[in-house]
Amino acid sequence: MRRPTRRFRAWFALAALLGGAFVPVGHAQQNGIGDPSTFLARTESLRTKDHPRFVRMLEEVHREGPALTKAQAWYLRYLDAWEDMYGGDYLKSEAGFRDIIANAGDATLSAKASALLLTNLAHTRRYEEAFTLANRVTADLPRITDPLARSMSLIGLSQMFDFADQTDLAIRYARLAQNSVPPGESPCQSLTLEVAAMFNARRLTPTSPELQHTLGVCIADDQPVSTNAMWLTLGAVYLDRNEPKKVIALLDRIGPSIGVNRYYQHMISATLQRAQAFEKLGDDAAAKAGALATVAMTNPDDLSDWQKEAYELLYRVEKKRGNTTAALNYYERFAAQDKGYLNDVSAKALAYNLAQQHTLAQRLETERLSKQNNILRLQQALDTKAVETGRLYIALLLAVLASIAFWLYRLKRSQMKFRKLAQRDGLTGIFNHQYFIEEADRVLHVLARKDGSACLMIIDLDHFKLVNDTHGHAIGDAVIRHTVTLCRELLRPADLFGRLGGEEFGVLLAGCGRDEGMAIADRIREAIDMSPAQCEGAAVSCSASIGLACTSASGYGLQTLCREADAALYRAKRNGRNRVIYAAGPGNLAVA
Ligand code: GH3
Ligand code: MG
Ligand code: MG
Repeated sequence: MRRPTRRFRAWFALAALLGGAFVPVGHAQQNGIGDPSTFLARTESLRTKDHPRFVRMLEEVHREGPALTKAQAWYLRYLDAWEDMYGGDYLKSEAGFRDIIANAGDATLSAKASALLLTNLAHTRRYEEAFTLANRVTADLPRITDPLARSMSLIGLSQMFDFADQTDLAIRYARLAQNSVPPGESPCQSLTLEVAAMFNARRLTPTSPELQHTLGVCIADDQPVSTNAMWLTLGAVYLDRNEPKKVIALLDRIGPSIGVNRYYQHMISATLQRAQAFEKLGDDAAAKAGALATVAMTNPDDLSDWQKEAYELLYRVEKKRGNTTAALNYYERFAAQDKGYLNDVSAKALAYNLAQQHTLAQRLETERLSKQNNILRLQQALDTKAVETGRLYIALLLAVLASIAFWLYRLKRSQMKFRKLAQRDGLTGIFNHQYFIEEADRVLHVLARKDGSACLMIIDLDHFKLVNDTHGHAIGDAVIRHTVTLCRELLRPADLFGRLGGEEFGVLLAGCGRDEGMAIADRIREAIDMSPAQCEGAAVSCSASIGLACTSASGYGLQTLCREADAALYRAKRNGRNRVIYAAGPGNLAVA
């Protein structure tokens, strides 16, 4: 299924956040280590500004092994852990950060290590731990006095909220970080955070003042890693806007800098972006070579968005060339990565909410316990002290206890609401992709046991980009909502209806055969064609193409049904759009 994925691209911007890279302006060039404290501080200041030199200086300290005080030895351990993280060795760097937090006995170093550990845990997809740590960092914030450690904490927090798709909060923390940049240091990194969050919230265009301003600042302050992060974000925006030539030109321009700085996430993202641009330009051979190069850069056991997008591209290229076996092979790999990706996204949202709720609940719980203790103490005092006032106080405390019980009940209810929210699409209120897939899979398993029947329909609006281009994104959104209303009127309550992404929808018609499925699909197609959306006084027309696959011909496997419905949809598009095509088993397609 084709749909825009945005999440992984936000990683570009995260690249720059490895420690904030605050660089004192104009450090002196020196030979030899001299005073270790000064040398280590100078090394740290260069970590993203001049990474090759940072590595050389770190090696120099290890090679020459100067006599270090205990505090200097912890500082060095911290820089080593930083470098492990930059190179993608998250496990090793995690061990370093945890050691520093537990044993260094240095509040500033421990705050810096915690801020980096936040990012590290997110990289290794341990969101529950990451969000719990985020709550702790927030609580510690008022006590952190070192300006750099404080900035790094705010940066780490902004990132966490971005991960949890809480983009407004991410922007708020990014701005707090911008306001806390220590004097004489570059605001570049905290600016990139805001751009990352805006990108994630789909609010970024090539001319967004925030992007332009951040690029200007990062270039002027000579921050190549952050600058590349911003260029790659711009590349992703160009890709979204279907401007592949601009992507290639941009990548050609920043390629040498990415090569010098050797930041893993930038190297792989640039490779994949180039492949995707080539695909859009119709150069399938170059696109395929790029996607294969992307896959070769990853660990096959990992779930990553890079692999998912690369396999999806390979699938499309092979399908286009008519290589069914290769296409199927790639599709299966894509699906394996996609399911992981979706679980990952929902895990993030859930972990955020649960950790948040957990802390709140804990706070209320502690309050309740201390109130209970007060009651006991008062009861003992009653024997000797003023009885009447004591009783009054007890009544008051009981009232407080009752209100806390009420709040705990409210909290439970809101936890349940969060669970429900995690299943819904924000724009239309119907099931989101992940929940639709999970439910469809479950229903198909039940039907397979009962020998029941079902049809899967994939609906994609025709030339929707044109709607956006002509009337603007807001009207585009209104058309998507209008389409959902039309479909809902024609679907039965038992039908599963979900938004697969963009302007693409999935419907699972349970207990439905081919003929009935075709009839419903055609009614939906006709309704969309005949009922323009009324937006701001204008009627905006749109049509839809529909691919249909049924269990009778395609079996009960969700993957196969999706693939066949998708192939039928592809054919409907090629045959002129505004039509329904039925997939009569592998390779056989019939027009409505
Ligand atoms: P086709 O007939 O081949 O489907 O052409 P199309 O223009 O519809 O192409 P495609 O399906 O590939 O593109 C979908 C477009 O929908 C791309 C994107 O700009 C837009 N889009 C995706 N999500 C949203 C959204 O949430 N709101 C709005 N307004 N537009 C979206
Ligand atoms: Mg479309
Ligand atoms: Mg589409």
